[in-house]
Amino acid sequence: MAEKTLFSKIIDREIPADIVYEDDQCLAFRDISPQAPVHILVIPKKPIPSTSAILPEDAELVGHIFCVIARLAEDNGIAKSGYRVVSNCGPDACQTVPHLHFHVLGGRGFAWPPG
Ligand code: AMP
Repeated sequence: MAEKTLFSKIIDREIPADIVYEDDQCLAFRDISPQAPVHILVIPKKPIPSTSAILPEDAELVGHIFCVIARLAEDNGIAKSGYRVVSNCGPDACQTVPHLHFHVLGGRGFAWPPG
């Protein structure tokens, strides 16, 4: 069996995290190194390595995660001001944890294009 990722360990409560939302399909917690006043990571409980590994059978799960993101944005007061959802995939995008995750960043302005 593949070794558990850091995020699977957070799901299994082997590593502590500031969890802000959980249901049977996903977990959301505050990033340990926040890049904005609001910086939440939303992850599926299913250990999908990255966006490149999303399968057609995961479509409902990914759609559900985006519904959760919308709710978290509302609950954290960034829905009206705006926010950014980012999923880094692979080395060029600086992905460091091989477990699909969506960064939800808000509470400040962001530049475009991204660095
Ligand atoms: P990425 O670089 O896109 O793979 O994002 C991984 C994110 O996980 C980074 O923003 C890290 O700050 C964050 N991170 C790493 N370890 C932890 C942890 N123990 N709790 C919360 N966030 C973490």
